[in-house]
Amino acid sequence: MSKKVLILADIREGKLRNVSLESLAAAKMVADGGEITAAIFGSNGKELADTLAHHGADKIITVSNQELDQYTTDAYFQAFKQVIDHVGPEVIFTGHTAVGRDVSPRIAARIGAGLLSDVTGIEVDGGKVVFTRPIYAGKAFVKKAVKEGIIFATLRPNNIPAQEADTTRTADVEDLSVTLAADTIRTIVKDVVKKSSDGVDLSEASVIVAGGRGVKSEDGFKPLEELAQLLGGAVGASRGACDSEYCDYALQIGQTGKVVTPDLYIAAGISGAIQHLAGMSNSKVIVAINKDPEAPIFQVADYGIVGDLFEVIPLLTEEFKKV
Ligand code: FAD
Repeated sequence: MSKKVLILADIREGKLRNVSLESLAAAKMVADGGEITAAIFGSNGKELADTLAHHGADKIITVSNQELDQYTTDAYFQAFKQVIDHVGPEVIFTGHTAVGRDVSPRIAARIGAGLLSDVTGIEVDGGKVVFTRPIYAGKAFVKKAVKEGIIFATLRPNNIPAQEADTTRTADVEDLSVTLAADTIRTIVKDVVKKSSDGVDLSEASVIVAGGRGVKSEDGFKPLEELAQLLGGAVGASRGACDSEYCDYALQIGQTGKVVTPDLYIAAGISGAIQHLAGMSNSKVIVAINKDPEAPIFQVADYGIVGDLFEVIPLLTEEFKKV
């Protein structure tokens, strides 16, 4: 049975995040021919509408209030709620990002829907939609279906591939006027301070080179940064490395850090504690470099290198330079 689907476009620094396009691919899977609408907030929404159309949106609702140029809980909540009332969707998807994780539970509570958070896979069996999501901090995965009411899910970035762009596709664009009561918006973003130095967003990077306490110092991250840059990836870290002040907490991956699913995850000098695995064990290919052959990281690694990271990483960098 066809379903009306609404996705919330996730924007950072005026650009669409990939998870927005992945949400459209997920929408296509469940819509079964039903209309797919993308909601996009902020003053440059119209400029991004074409990309959403090329990736599967049938209709685009822009809400161009300036208050939505930067994410704030109150403004996004009010705008998104009004878009939902306007569209009347049977399925809603947001990214499992800082934005989606914050706004979605509020909306779900307000509209009386359940929320499937951090979805990593979707299967459609006849009319039944089955979602996969982690439990016990990523130690296991569970499959769930929604029995009744609105299907509402946040989708983990990098798990559901976006569709190829079809530049011949067009979509109706509607500029919706919403009411954002000024006295109910309790926060103002005055400045955005970027902590990570490189341009690749860790949670959407296709390659991550992560360092642990084994890097031994801030300088010890330099060979990892060089390899990450060469591969067009991002640098990540274990909490061990962050606690030791070798790097910023913005790089932390794991249960209390970022959850990532890159195509390639290189873990250097990371022991593989369960809290770290919770953030990266779903990566497509895992390469572990560790001096200790008994390190638990090797149990989840596709390729294990027993050795000193300060010898292995430069060797890898030299080899990749030849490709
Ligand atoms: P260690 O466990 O000290 O491991 C360092 C590794 O480096 C060792 O295996 C060693 O053999 C290897 N090594 C040393 N020198 C070299 C070298 N020259 N070459 C190669 N290998 C070398 N951790 C996270 O990562 N993310 C989280 O989100 C997180 N959340 C947590 C939440 C809670 C509630 C708790 C209690 C803990 C959490 N932790 C988290 C911490 C976690 O339990 C571990 O303490 C942490 O992951 C260890 O970091 P590490 O692997 O870098 O350090």
